Amino acid sequence: MRTLFLNTKDLPDFLNNLSKEYSVYVPSKIKGKGLPCDFGFKLPTHDYLWEKLSAVKKEDLAFNDYRSIESLRAFFTRSKEKLVLSDNENKIAVFGVKACDLFCLKIQDFVFSGGEIKDPFYERRRASALLISGDCLSFKEACFCLALEINPYPGEGFDLNFSVLENGFVVDVGSDKGEEAIKASAALFAPATSQALAQREEKRNALARNLSGHLERHKIPSKDVLQEIVKAGYESDIWQAEAEKCVECGACNFVCGTCHCFLLAEDRFGNAHERVRLWDCCSYANFARVAGGANPLKLRYQRVRNRYLKKFDFFPENFAISACAGCGRCIEACPAKIDIRSVLRKLNEEKSLSAR
Ligand code: SF4
Ligand code: SF4
Repeated sequence: MRTLFLNTKDLPDFLNNLSKEYSVYVPSKIKGKGLPCDFGFKLPTHDYLWEKLSAVKKEDLAFNDYRSIESLRAFFTRSKEKLVLSDNENKIAVFGVKACDLFCLKIQDFVFSGGEIKDPFYERRRASALLISGDCLSFKEACFCLALEINPYPGEGFDLNFSVLENGFVVDVGSDKGEEAIKASAALFAPATSQALAQREEKRNALARNLSGHLERHKIPSKDVLQEIVKAGYESDIWQAEAEKCVECGACNFVCGTCHCFLLAEDRFGNAHERVRLWDCCSYANFARVAGGANPLKLRYQRVRNRYLKKFDFFPENFAISACAGCGRCIEACPAKIDIRSVLRKLNEEKSLSAR
């Protein structure tokens, strides 16, 4: 992997050069929501949303400290789309992707292009997209990537990765596509010095230490026991207690970068009907209903449980990884304050008690 250095002042020029070939999306800062925090954690005062580079003023161009509000998923499968392959889709470059986002894409890749039958919409968009990731500089109260053994800085899956230093970025080139993307800006890049790499290492270790301290208080069970505790808790009353709070809004599904279920339906466009694909949601009462009316997930507690079984049992069993990146988006989005970390903790405590 080639490692380069880019001065902070040259970032806009690099992104502008990229925009000659790609529709470039960059994180834009928005005011934070003032959510209540556990354990006196001081919430960052801002969030990020991806915007088209052309819509962001040069002075507002930000390197995001942590992941954006939405996941990468919508870039590759739309929340609702006609099933017609178009040759007019722009190639996209997304700047500010984080390690949790890259992890989530492994799940999407497995679902949409990992089997014999591949999804042509997904494959085409994924193959042409340029992913420019970045180390996290901070974290949100809800972030728990490290508890799932995902570092808050990317190690794989990116085309380019940016690590922020005082006066610039260490840039890892992770793919041929990444090499191609910097060609037009070659004069802006220099080889990274060993001091720059040492500084980066220090920053990465300091952030991982802080995040690890934050997570200790949440007592999240270790990654290697998650499948076991979710299975052991199949008959637990915890599901019913969580289901009583859930209002079936679907927010936890729609913000999640690993969720991928979809519906095929007909929709009306003028005088014609066309086939559309829509994101589906396992919290919805009719999610599992089949023709004839049978519904194996009829009760809400069954659907709440199903979400955990899918992420922590089905995926490890069939793909050897959990379908959760610890991004915490579902925690922030849930109006009922259902927190995946505390559900896992309660299941673990219950299992330990029953073993006594
Ligand atoms: S389940 Fe929640 S924490 Fe895990 S990847 Fe999905 S949104 Fe993030
Ligand atoms: S976000 Fe919360 S209330 Fe909404 S469906 Fe998910 S668990 Fe239920």
